[in-house]
Formats: sequence, C-alpha cells, structure tokens
Amino acid sequence: MKVIKSQFEFKGGVHPDYNKELARDQAIENLPVPEELAISMSQHLGAPAKCIVKAGDWVERGQVIGEKAGFISVLVRASASGRVKAVEKRLGPAGGKADCVILDTAAERPADVPAPSAGPVLAPLDWRTASKEDLLKRVEEAGICGMGGAGFPTAVKLNPPPAKRCEYLILNGAECEPYLTADYRVMLERAPRIRLGVEIMRKMLGGPAVRIAIEANKPEAILAMEKAFADIEGNVQIVVLPVLYPQGSEKHQIYATVKRIVPEPPALPIDVGCVVENVGTAAAIADAVELGEPLLSRVTTVSGDAVANPKNIQAPSGTKYADLVKFCGGEKVPPAKVISGGTMMGFAVSTLEIGTTKTTSGLLLLSRKKVFQYSSHPCINCGRCLRACPMNLNPALISKAVDANDIKAAEDAHVMDCIECGACSFGCPAYRTITQSCRRAKNSIRARIAAEKAKAAAAQAKQ
Ligand code: SF4
Ligand code: SF4
Repeated sequence: MKVIKSQFEFKGGVHPDYNKELARDQAIENLPVPEELAISMSQHLGAPAKCIVKAGDWVERGQVIGEKAGFISVLVRASASGRVKAVEKRLGPAGGKADCVILDTAAERPADVPAPSAGPVLAPLDWRTASKEDLLKRVEEAGICGMGGAGFPTAVKLNPPPAKRCEYLILNGAECEPYLTADYRVMLERAPRIRLGVEIMRKMLGGPAVRIAIEANKPEAILAMEKAFADIEGNVQIVVLPVLYPQGSEKHQIYATVKRIVPEPPALPIDVGCVVENVGTAAAIADAVELGEPLLSRVTTVSGDAVANPKNIQAPSGTKYADLVKFCGGEKVPPAKVISGGTMMGFAVSTLEIGTTKTTSGLLLLSRKKVFQYSSHPCINCGRCLRACPMNLNPALISKAVDANDIKAAEDAHVMDCIECGACSFGCPAYRTITQSCRRAKNSIRARIAAEKAKAAAAQAKQ
C-alpha cells in the first residue's frame, strides 16, 4: 500500500484558524449513560424516522424506537434502556423541529420485564461468508448513516443501482472543520476497526480501489492508518491532501484524490464511479457486522475556549449538550456562542437541551474573545467571496438577491449547488452573512418544489 501526495488542488477554499490543539491529544472517553436522553427521530438526511413508542413504554437498549419512513431514511434505536417519559417535538441543532423520545434511563425496570441477556443486540456476522444482501441488511438494521456530514443513509450509498459501478471507495479522514478532532482520534485509536469496515464495504461494492484521504496536518493519523492497512491486498492508497478548507467536502475530496468532477445536482458521486464514506462510519460498520453492535453512540469533540476541559467523548445518541459540557468540567467562562458542529458549517444553538445525533461531530463553546462582534454592511464588490467559493459560484450575487427577496435570481445563480461550506462568509470584509443567505434561498426553493409536488399529486388524485 502506497502513501502519495494529492496532485489535484481544487479552486477556491480558505485557511481558517484550526484550533485543533485544544482537543487533539485528548483520548476518547466514554460518557456514562445520562439520566435523561433526548433521542431525535431526525438523525439523518431524508425522511425522519416514524416513532413507534409512546409515553410510559419501557424500552431496552438497542430496541427500534423509530422505523424507516421512506427509501432515504434510517431507523432509530434506543441508545439505553429506560422508560419513555414523553414523545414531543423538539428543536434540532439545525433549527427544525422533529419528534424526540425523552427517555428516563434512571427509571426502575418493571418487575414483569426481565433484564435482557448480556449478549450483543444483533447476531454477529462473518463478513467473509455473508452475502452482499446480508451485509446491506445489517448496515440498514444497525441504523447507520454517514457520520461525517449530512447523514446520508449508508445502506443506500453502499447499494448503487446495477447500471452504476463503484470504481473508487474513498475514505474521508480529512476532518477539515476547525476545532473538531473526533475523526482524528478515531483514526489514532480505532484504525483496525476502520480497516475492517473498509474491507466489508469493499466486498459490498464489488471490490473497488480504495483511497484514504487525510489532510497533511494529521501526520500521526496518516501513520496509524498506514500501519493498519500495511498488509491489505489490492489497489489501496493513502492520499495526503493539502491543508485547505473545505477539503472534507465530498465533491472536493473526489477531485483531490481521483481527479473526477461530480456534475451538478441531482448527480451523485456514484455517477463518476465513487462512493465516499467517513472513517467513523467505517468503524461503525465493522462494529455492526462483527460485533452485532448497532450505531447507538458516537465520538463528539467538545471544545472551545469557554469549556473547562475540551474532550473527545463517546456518548450515547440523545445525550443532551448540557451533559456533555458537565462531563468536560462545565464552562470556564460564560460562552458568548454555542455551536453544534464546527465553526464553518455548524449551527449556533440557543439551548443545551438538544440531544446528540449520529451526525453530532462537535459542540463548541466560544467566549466573547473568540466570537467576532460585527454588523453586516453592504457589499463592496471586492470579489473575495468569488475567489474563496470552491463551487465556482458568485456568492455576492446570491446574497444580494436574497437580501432583495429575489429567490428566483438566487436560483438562476445556481444557489442549489452551494455546499454551505462558509468559505465566502469567512473572508468577507463587509461581514455579510452570505452562507445564511444561501441556506435561506435553498430552504425556500425546496419548500416551493415540495409544494408544487404536493399540488400535482393532489390534482392527479382528483382525476
Ligand atoms: S456560496 Fe456556498 S459553496 Fe460557495 S463559498 Fe459560500 S457557502 Fe461555500
Ligand atoms: S466578499 Fe463580501 S464584500 Fe466582497 S464581494 Fe463578496 S459579499 Fe461583497
């Protein structure tokens, strides 16, 4: 297996302060199950899961509490045993509300409910002899979705249509978001699990070449992966990427590793023969197949200058942000801003009562010193955002269109291609909230398309 340097640099991108030193040397710690969990039915891209439990029910760790609600959807399992206190709509990190199971894990087990056996939740599988269908079923029943970004259902990604062949499985270990070190620690501490996950995925995808993409600022992770994959057979390479945000974006990583360009949506990486999976997802697949352990927890980086002891925490899904902060020794100073995710693509949140999901890679508490106070000004046409945009968009034009409430003009300027990376806002001397404008326009366009579809369906039903 070779380690090579990426030869292909994408246009645009920025160099934010990475601030990874706060948590990068903190080994993963397991959080004891908190007394209350808030488990959302919307932990992935696509239709939220359909909640199948109600207040008063007793649920066991690993039990399905939310069923898949469509092709692009993922089931949800209880990350601990306990009694359902309530099922209620709660705000998620991105602002939308979804059904949330509030689980009292300190409740006493009912006398007539015997404790389950200590074995695994699912029967372990031998991946070498299991069929592709069995492996896909396992990924689906384990509730696995992409753990590095939007949470695309993994079983869908690993089952491309027959006409589309996966030539490259790209393993995303870039973790280019400032502050976040969860993937880095997984690469250092769980490299053999990642390798096993890669071998399983390779079998499911018909034996593609493998490219392991890691930014050059993570030499220890590169070494750990090199050691873990040293004797792997076939066409496997570690590709060392230049340090440039957003190197972890799927499209940009495909270009940087195999120089292929994913066309405009609705095209997907598989349309250029690629499947990209995060390193944490690979480890989760290994656990689900070999150990029979569904995806019930993940590593989340809790960092920032306003938290007492930054850490990388393996926490059950639904752990409230307040419990993560408590585990880190609380606040060092009152935070001026709390961000779910990283500083570039994350969402500012106003409460710590939100529960973690399968995609919660980070929680940042930033003091007033770190939170730049500014007010937005009119665009001065400096062009900096155009140079920074890795999608070749005109962010200034889009933000002006959104200011004027002209969503059609934003759509004509290809706002739907925006990956919401934040590179445009990062360097804007007028402090314009360009990324938020892009999100607003995209949400508005999606809502319009959904309304049009509903109207067409209703008209067809009448005929
Ligand atoms: S317009 Fe979108 S894709 Fe381009 S830099 Fe801004 S957030 Fe990133
Ligand atoms: S960086 Fe800001 S000020 Fe400069 S062109 Fe873009 S939106 Fe306008």
